[in-house]
Amino acid sequence: MVEVKALHDEARAMLPEIAALRHALHRVPELALDLPRTQALVLDALAGLDLEISTGDGLSSVVAVLRGGRPGPAVLLRGDMDALPVTEQTGEPFTSEHVGLMHACGHDMHVAGLVGAARLLAARRADVAGDVVLMFQPGEEGDGGAEIMIEQGVLDAAGQRVVAAYGVHVASGLLPHGVVSGRAGTAMAAADSVVVTVHGSGGHGSAPHRALDPVPVAAEIVLALQAMVTRRFDAFDPVVVTVGALHAGTANNIIPASATLEITVRTFSRDTWQAAPERLREVCEHVAAAHGLTAEVDYRRGYPVTVNDPHELERTARLTRAMLGEDAWQTMPQPLAGAEDFSYVLQEVPGSFVFVSALAADGDPVTAPYNHSPYARFDDAALATGAALLAGLALDRLAEG
Ligand SMILES: [Zn+2]
Repeated sequence: MVEVKALHDEARAMLPEIAALRHALHRVPELALDLPRTQALVLDALAGLDLEISTGDGLSSVVAVLRGGRPGPAVLLRGDMDALPVTEQTGEPFTSEHVGLMHACGHDMHVAGLVGAARLLAARRADVAGDVVLMFQPGEEGDGGAEIMIEQGVLDAAGQRVVAAYGVHVASGLLPHGVVSGRAGTAMAAADSVVVTVHGSGGHGSAPHRALDPVPVAAEIVLALQAMVTRRFDAFDPVVVTVGALHAGTANNIIPASATLEITVRTFSRDTWQAAPERLREVCEHVAAAHGLTAEVDYRRGYPVTVNDPHELERTARLTRAMLGEDAWQTMPQPLAGAEDFSYVLQEVPGSFVFVSALAADGDPVTAPYNHSPYARFDDAALATGAALLAGLALDRLAEG
């Protein structure tokens, strides 16, 4: 088995350097797909490690391939790089210098941790039996940067398709200090959005028979969607459908020509995610047709379900226990209802995506501000955990051949 304890010791020894990189990144948070300063810091940090480096076309991604000293398959390690439109209130000495922007989701930790993993692997290159693709990804917070990087070939960057992929996400709260947490199967939800427009024809409020009123049809659709949730989907594979906005009309005596519903759809399995658009379309179109109207359904896919391969999740749990002790691994009882675009990678290749506590040793997981908060603070010590775990996962998988 891979010496993850030794990896962790080495990562802790290099902590001053990777924390300095993290602080530099934290000072210059950038949004979405265009992260020029972040990209420059990454390229600078990777210089001298003897990697094959390429950058994205139309986005600030960086792909670095580390060639091992021995032949073997390829694996992928991923760190996302983008920040959020949040005004930082942490008071950290390395607080954001970009007004209105903050690394409030800890992606600066992911970048620095992945650089740390690259250093650990480069230092033992002779023992690396294959190739490691380092995926530095922009645009996780809504722009689907992972999907674009897949289109641009990141999974084949080593000249062969990667056989496994691993990522971690830091948490500033929820998880106790020193814990790594994950689950086999669904780890995070899929989140789709839908706009339904009910088309009728307007008229005088006193003579509805001379119009086609979209208002009662829209109301019926709202209720029919909830019946769909309980009657058309397995109660043990839940779907959440919320009509968050419903707009029609201008005055009490005017029948409007149309009504609009805005809906979010959360699913927790690939089967349900696949089935949801058609089921929802059927309900909307047929309820409208029953009253002589039409419904136009604009179903927009968000990120898919994030699914951990059971075997790879078990590998991650085993390495975590070996590195940090038995109690450091916590199995998540349920998925998180948020969504994550590493899901696109895990649709293509088996792998794992787990959560690393970045709570300070004296922090309280219940009250500590969580990711996306302007007060969220991430403990640098988690950098060593993330770097050693990612490097360990690559080595352990490659050793299998
Ligand atoms: Zn995040």
